[in-house]
Amino acid sequence: MTTFLGMPTAPRGVGHLRQTEPFPVAARRGLANTQLRRNLAKATTAIRAKRAAIVGEVPDWEELREAGRAIKAETMAHLDRYLEQLETQVTAYGGVVHWARDATEANRIVVDLVRGTGAAEVVKVKSMVTDEIGLNEALAQAGIQPYETDLAELIVQLGHDRPSHILVPAIHRNRAEIREIFLREMGDADPGLTADPAALAEAARIHLRRLFLSARVGISGANFAVAETGALCVVESEGNGRMCLTLPETLITVMGIEKVVPAWRDLGVFMQLLPRSSTGERMNPYTSIWTGVTPGDGPQQFHLVLLDNGRTAALADETGRQALHCIRCSACLNVCPVYERAGGHAYGSVYPGPIGAILSPQLTGIEDNASLPYASSLCGACYDVCPVKIDIPSVLVHLRARHVETARDSRRLPRGEAVTMAAASWVMASQGRFTAAQRAAKLGRPLGRRGRIRRLPPPFSGWTSARDMPVPAAMTFREWWQHEHRSEPPHEDGACG
Ligand code: SF4
Repeated sequence: MTTFLGMPTAPRGVGHLRQTEPFPVAARRGLANTQLRRNLAKATTAIRAKRAAIVGEVPDWEELREAGRAIKAETMAHLDRYLEQLETQVTAYGGVVHWARDATEANRIVVDLVRGTGAAEVVKVKSMVTDEIGLNEALAQAGIQPYETDLAELIVQLGHDRPSHILVPAIHRNRAEIREIFLREMGDADPGLTADPAALAEAARIHLRRLFLSARVGISGANFAVAETGALCVVESEGNGRMCLTLPETLITVMGIEKVVPAWRDLGVFMQLLPRSSTGERMNPYTSIWTGVTPGDGPQQFHLVLLDNGRTAALADETGRQALHCIRCSACLNVCPVYERAGGHAYGSVYPGPIGAILSPQLTGIEDNASLPYASSLCGACYDVCPVKIDIPSVLVHLRARHVETARDSRRLPRGEAVTMAAASWVMASQGRFTAAQRAAKLGRPLGRRGRIRRLPPPFSGWTSARDMPVPAAMTFREWWQHEHRSEPPHEDGACG
């Protein structure tokens, strides 16, 4: 066996991971799309409430979160060992394991495997990792038609669109838009189709049934792989995954190397954490687990493609590697004020929201997704809901520091930013200058209406282009203190006014 683990230079991630434009530019488009903002606000509010209620039922939720964190940390500390154990077990049960350094290698492996079967069509169960590597495009280029079978992924594929949410990839579409897409693209949709959810689901069901029954190759991702037994696990809620995983003759699973867990019992922890955090359900509706091949039952060829694509590079960063603990529940997206307003497309990568802001820059190298670690208010809501306790705000700050260091080393730190920081440092280094700056800020009070300033004049106008700001207080903290404690003056040192 040859793996890429322990290589002196870990491969960088390629595929659909890089931003084509900085987050602020793309976010501006999302902010201007009122339909998108309405859809997102409605959907995330509903999911948030459902999750909070169902998590509130579990008295030992914090202990479960800690168990999930500990399992992931242990896995990352010995990833090489667990992956080799997984390969041994999958092979022992009749599967074939392939190692892919990056998206290009993974796509080549999958295309060759499908070609080897002679199939011209494949059915797919929703998989972020195959989105990450651009597998659908690679298959299409090779003359193989991929069919997404998850309802939301089907909507995205038929709409020639991109997913915008981990769990609900078509969250940016409403019913009327979905009806239009089905009528235009499906071919077999009833012309009298309404925008009723049941009617839309039935149209998709009829459309997909022929594909399920005729496909000879199924392609999936994996939520978990158990090193101890070689078992693979896919968690979904529509039953389409079960069809893809059991009906075709050949099953190809593409999995990021971080999805391995040491032991069978570990699934017990994640099966409690994942459905509650993602869909707000006590138990996941369809959980498929298989080990290798079983003669006369299910696919008779099983291939597992283990993908690096920048993951070992992320693993090398002791703070940043937490991003590899992610179980893709999407809870952090649903609570993020930035995601809710800008939408998933603004992140430019297949991984949107807070997790995308820390994962994508580490997979590609910070300079290729440099604006993502700044796409956060650092409010900490993502950390509070994360079922495996990924400290997203700390990783964001860490990545910002890495970006500044990298930019400074290559003398590419933006001039405006460097000048602003130097000026801020100069002002804050002296109590007198800081007090003078606070007095100057109070001159802006007449610009405010009902406690907020909506528009600042240049050169500060960029700050209020997409947000307002509070009117400066009539009294600084120091003035207030002196007023309240006239007989007890505060310490003179310290910059805080
Ligand atoms: S970072 Fe945490 S909350 Fe966000 S998707 Fe991953 S596991 Fe879920």
